[in-house]
Amino acid sequence: MFETLSDRLTSVFSSLRSKGRLSDADIDATTREIRIALLEADVALPVVKAFVAQVKERARGSEVSQALNPAQQVVKIVNDELIGILGGETRRLRFAKTPPTVIMLAGLQGAGKTTLAGKLARWLREQGHAPMLVAADLQRPNAVQQLQVVGERAQVAVFAPEPGSGVGDPVAVARRSLDEARRLNHDIVIIDTAGRLGIDQEMMRQAADIRDAVTPDETLFVVDAMIGQDAVTTAQAFMEGVGFDGVVLTKLDGDARGGAALSVRHITGRPIMFASTGEKLEDFDAFHPDRMASRILD
Ligand code: GDP
Repeated sequence: MFETLSDRLTSVFSSLRSKGRLSDADIDATTREIRIALLEADVALPVVKAFVAQVKERARGSEVSQALNPAQQVVKIVNDELIGILGGETRRLRFAKTPPTVIMLAGLQGAGKTTLAGKLARWLREQGHAPMLVAADLQRPNAVQQLQVVGERAQVAVFAPEPGSGVGDPVAVARRSLDEARRLNHDIVIIDTAGRLGIDQEMMRQAADIRDAVTPDETLFVVDAMIGQDAVTTAQAFMEGVGFDGVVLTKLDGDARGGAALSVRHITGRPIMFASTGEKLEDFDAFHPDRMASRILD
């Protein structure tokens, strides 16, 4: 991901290298190139506009540092603005004052929720927590079993309705899981909810019902970064239908153009908190805006 954008930006910067100082015309030409590079990377238009306006304003402004040549100054401004658009600081998980901390996952089917549930659980377990996974995706026939497999690999407990128990109500399962977590001293509950292939009112209502039943400390919207501009529309739909506190980007290892990653924070106003970069449970970490910006500009 981001290779094309990286290459484009590198060539924009290299054309500035020979300049002694930047005229307004140079700045206009440069920001025009940056705009094209971002649009080609599938970054949402409002985000591109805001980004380019900021870069232009700062490049024209008086923040001329003697230590940096014009090309370096533009790189610095673009780097700062990329960090800004990606959310600035890393946003950490908020834990409940009284355990269990409830984390609910929402997103489309195939976004990588179940995999992410396992990754997050493993990550938290390694930090000394005792998480429990909850199978509240009762829509997909294999979802419960898939979560059990993931739980085994992550070496964490899974709360799921017994096969054939007739429990078909994900809201009841989610609610019961909290009592079970308290009983078994799990300090974190991660609830995997059902997704559909597309945005669907029934799915949204179910997720909202689960949310109302368990009042999550964190609702995380899980989105596949490979779906490009659709990630933005999907995020907006989940924002309206369920609401969320943070975003998890999955499949950042893919070869999509990366625009989703650069747009979702600005469009939803919610921070990207975690990133998934592969199918293995270890392919996962907290999201660091500064590291992502350096990756793009390297
Ligand atoms: P869910 O329907 O949202 O629960 O999605 P799943 O967790 O079942 O994931 C759907 C597919 O995406 C599976 O084949 C996963 O192995 C794969 N997947 C999940 N996360 C990633 C990731 O970060 N990178 C890659 N390459 N594949 C992923």
